[in-house]
Amino acid sequence: MKLKWKPKKLTLVIIPDANQSVVRFRIHHLFAYIAAACFSVPLLIALVVYGLHAHTAHTASELRIKLNGANQLWSAELSSKNETIEQLQNEVIQLSQKAELMKVKVEEMKKLESDLKSIAQLDSSSSPTKDPSLSDTAASNDAVASLPLGMGGSPNPATQEEIMKLGEQTLASLTAMDSDVKELQTSFTETKQKVAVKQQQLRITPTIWPTNTKLVTSPFGYRTDPITHHPSFHSGIDFGARENDSVFTTADGQVVSTGTDAFHGNNIVIEHSKGLRTWYMHLNKILVKRGDTVAKGDVIGLVGSTGRSTGPHLHYEVLKNGESTDPIPYLKAMRKDD
Ligand SMILES: [Zn+2]
Repeated sequence: MKLKWKPKKLTLVIIPDANQSVVRFRIHHLFAYIAAACFSVPLLIALVVYGLHAHTAHTASELRIKLNGANQLWSAELSSKNETIEQLQNEVIQLSQKAELMKVKVEEMKKLESDLKSIAQLDSSSSPTKDPSLSDTAASNDAVASLPLGMGGSPNPATQEEIMKLGEQTLASLTAMDSDVKELQTSFTETKQKVAVKQQQLRITPTIWPTNTKLVTSPFGYRTDPITHHPSFHSGIDFGARENDSVFTTADGQVVSTGTDAFHGNNIVIEHSKGLRTWYMHLNKILVKRGDTVAKGDVIGLVGSTGRSTGPHLHYEVLKNGESTDPIPYLKAMRKDD
C-alpha cells in the first residue's frame, strides 16, 4: 500500500463584527497539526499533574485521619498503662505495709512459742514475760488496722526507682518471713510433741491431793507414836478427813494390790510408772480391785479407821523404788473439780 501525501490548505475565517469585513487566513495543513499538538500536550501534562496532586492530597488526608486515630488510640493506651503502673505501684506499697505487719505477727508467734515452752517447762532459759517493745508495736499496729485514722502531709511523689527498691525489699522481707514461718512450724511441732510427753508424765505423776481436806494431822518423818508414845518414823502423811469421805487416786495408774491387815487396815496400792507407787490406808471401803486401770482424780475408796488407827483419817504414802518418800513435794496441783 502506498501512502500519498497530499498537502492541503486550511482556511481560518475570523468574523470580528457584522459590519466589518471577514478576515481569512490560509494555513498549511501540517502547521495546523503542530499548533494543535502544541496546545494539547501542555494541557495533557497539566491534567496529569492535577490528577497526581489530587491523588496525593487525598492520600495525605487519609493518612492524616489514620494518624489522628492512631494517636488517639496510643494516647488512650498510654493513659491506661500509666494508670495501671500507678495502681501496681500503690499495690507494692500496700504489700510492703502488710509485710511489715506480718513481720510483727511472726515475731509475736516466736515469742508465743517461747512462752509456751516456758509454761510447759520445756526450756528453763526463757520465761513467759512480756516483751513491752514487741507488745507495744503489736498494739499500735492493731490500732492502725482497726481504726479509720486520718492521714496527711506534704506531697512527695515516689520515684519509679524508689518503688522498685521498695518492691525488692518487700520480696526480701517476705522470703525471710517464709523461712521464719517454716522454722516456726518445725519448732511448734517439736514443742507440741514435748508438751504431749510432758502431759503424759504429769498424768502418771502423783500431783493432786488424795482427799478433799488439806488438813494434815501427822506429817512425814520422825514423830511420837500416837499409840505407844514412843519415838517412831512416820512413812506417810495423815489427812484428817471424815469417815466415808472420798479418796482419790493422785495419778493415772493401775491397781497392783488391794487388801486388809491389822496394821494398814483396808488398803490400796497403785502403780503409776515404773518404780513409782502410791499407798492409801485405813479405808472404810475399797472401791477398786487389783488390775483396774485408774485415772488421776478417780474415787478409789472411802476414808475409814481400819487397822492401826485412832480415828478416821487417810494415811497416804508415795513409794519410789519401794522406799517411802515425803509426799509433800508431790502435792502441787488441785483436782479439776476442786
Ligand atoms: Zn499415818
